[in-house]
Amino acid sequence: MFIARSCVFGSKLINPCKLAFIRGRFLMSAAFHGAKFCWMDGEIIETDKAVVSAMEPIHLSIFEGIKAYVKNDVNASGKLNIFQWESHVARLWRSAAVCGMNIPYAGENLLEATRKTVRANGFSTNVYIQPRIWPRAEAPKDVHFIIPVWAFETVLGRNNPRFSKQRRFIISSWRRIASDALPPQAKAWANYGNSALAMREAERLGYDGAIFLDNRGFVSEGTGASIMTVRNGKLITPPVSASILESVTRETLLRIVSEDLGIPVEVRDITRVELYASDEAFLCGTGWEITPITSIDDLPLGDEYPGVVTKRISEYYADVVAGNVEKHKEWLISA
Ligand code: PMP
Repeated sequence: MFIARSCVFGSKLINPCKLAFIRGRFLMSAAFHGAKFCWMDGEIIETDKAVVSAMEPIHLSIFEGIKAYVKNDVNASGKLNIFQWESHVARLWRSAAVCGMNIPYAGENLLEATRKTVRANGFSTNVYIQPRIWPRAEAPKDVHFIIPVWAFETVLGRNNPRFSKQRRFIISSWRRIASDALPPQAKAWANYGNSALAMREAERLGYDGAIFLDNRGFVSEGTGASIMTVRNGKLITPPVSASILESVTRETLLRIVSEDLGIPVEVRDITRVELYASDEAFLCGTGWEITPITSIDDLPLGDEYPGVVTKRISEYYADVVAGNVEKHKEWLISA
């Protein structure tokens, strides 16, 4: 086996072990997003001890984004429930299979690990849970598995000023990665290079975010969320074949919006001009929750912002994640 005795870091030649130490410290600062503890490879450790070698191959790493919400009121503090745990874990396993990784834990181990991490940090407000997996440098068939967990502020809930903030979006000049090149259906970090380019472009031009078209020129998704539009009272969203991530939130909304709110839904390709002509549009995802969009390429959407349908859906979704809708309590599991 080849063992490197030194490598270049900045302009200095240093020992790789020292580099791993420096990099690890740099990547995982003492309280990562305010979280003092994380779970790594089987145990709860302080986040500043979550150190790996800088020689790790990171291009095929995968992750999940999951949320736990305060029971009964998403804006309060109290007991937490994880939303759609099973669906997220199923997608993590699909992503691992696509990227050729074996996960050496069962779903229950990960649930227990997540609960321990939330408890270790003493969180009692909404938390974001981001399991991350990547192959080990010395044994690529084995993986590192880390679960960072941190608190976030929701855009959901009645009269939440964060929800109604103006958000000006553009259509990105970058196309969404195609499924036959780098599959967006796997939640791999590599895909987020595409997203980062689109976000940088939007920020450079003074906008709040970007929407991708797919390689056929149809509307695809946001940089970290699915897109839904409202036109003539119908909710319309692109199909999985439009190079999108199979979003857990999108699936949830497609079901509750039609079954519970009686709003017709359509899953079909959307053209760029149809998007401009929408009465309302919003992003949906675990991270973005339900985030309304004010304009696209400076064309305002509809007459009212946030739109009435978007508002109605988001208020209902807030009730679902808080456990206030009896028939959807099966999507919640205690944190
Ligand atoms: N698309 C992309 C590119 C995303 O990163 C996300 C966030 N995971 C979503 C859509 C929404 O997926 P989910 O609802 O499962 O969070």
